[in-house]
Amino acid sequence: MKKHTFLLLIIAFLLTACGQTKDIKSFEAMNTFMTVQAYGKNAKKAKQLIKQRIEVLEDFFSTTKINSDVYKLNNSQETETVVHPETFEILQFALKMANETSGALNPCLYNITSAWGFTTGSYRVPSQDEISFLLKRTDFNHLQMDQERSTVTLETGMQVDFGAVGKGYAGDQAIKILKEQGVKSAILDLGGNIQTLGTKPDGSEWKVGIKSPFGGRAVAGVKVCDKAVITSGGYERFFTADDGNSYIHIFDGKTGRPVKNEIASVTIICESGLYGDSLSTALFVMGTEKAVAYWKTHREFEFIIITIDEDLIYTKGLESKIQLLEDFESVTVIE
Ligand code: ADP
Ligand code: MG
Repeated sequence: MKKHTFLLLIIAFLLTACGQTKDIKSFEAMNTFMTVQAYGKNAKKAKQLIKQRIEVLEDFFSTTKINSDVYKLNNSQETETVVHPETFEILQFALKMANETSGALNPCLYNITSAWGFTTGSYRVPSQDEISFLLKRTDFNHLQMDQERSTVTLETGMQVDFGAVGKGYAGDQAIKILKEQGVKSAILDLGGNIQTLGTKPDGSEWKVGIKSPFGGRAVAGVKVCDKAVITSGGYERFFTADDGNSYIHIFDGKTGRPVKNEIASVTIICESGLYGDSLSTALFVMGTEKAVAYWKTHREFEFIIITIDEDLIYTKGLESKIQLLEDFESVTVIE
């Protein structure tokens, strides 16, 4: 083989191995910014399909779109309502997790989060009387579901929302579409929920940054492939009231108030985006001690907790995957 032919072959190989057709697409959906970065032949097509799919899901799950399943349920006034099978499935999953986490995850808190203004942006601190009244209508055991007819019945005044799980489900659906299209390498950012497919095109693991809950650059990186890396943080959405207190968008269903504990952010690393999303919210509500206890009896996921005092707590499975980019007050590995 002539020298320059050989060189051309090497260049061609390098182009296919490292410089696979890369395609990035960003769009807005589910009240957030989403980016899909996929590599390979059908990457572009897959991304278009993902955008369409997420728009359809939004039409089922939105709390504000008048014809969405969730909107219909929240205005159903105790009547049995037919929902799309996917809405049914997610609600069923959320209820299972609500039971599993002793109500730390509760998909029936929408009347409470609305009263605090998180749905409209007109923030306020409701009176204790108002909170107590609304709390009586948040018992997820009182929600009735009929699998055969795909119907849901809420009790009077009860309202559901998929804020804690919808993006995770959407991510799983996106990964499914990428696989169907033969894409082997992709990374998605659905409003801070990172989901990865395969490895990077060069075969190495994806390195996902864990945002500082205090602002600024990433405080840690974690190497993953085929995993979801899902973070819930008090820093994402909050308001400061006239009483000088900050109130975050993650609620404690026992008190009807925004969570105020030692956690600044919880990141879950696991296979399913839906599971990770539900857990990131639930463990945040639980607080560190209960979160650790929960992990010890489940262990099918890894977590990283950053506390407001800048302590870092993570599970043993991440030991060889995590890279610290900042100094922490303390570092604890849970096993
Ligand atoms: P983000 O959507 O910002 O990534 P989360 O996944 O933690 O954060 O979801 C928070 C959203 O879930 C809130 O905006 C609200 O709609 C809803 N929510 C708040 N508290 C709870 C809770 N304890 N259980 C279930 N959903 C909740
Ligand atoms: Mg969540």
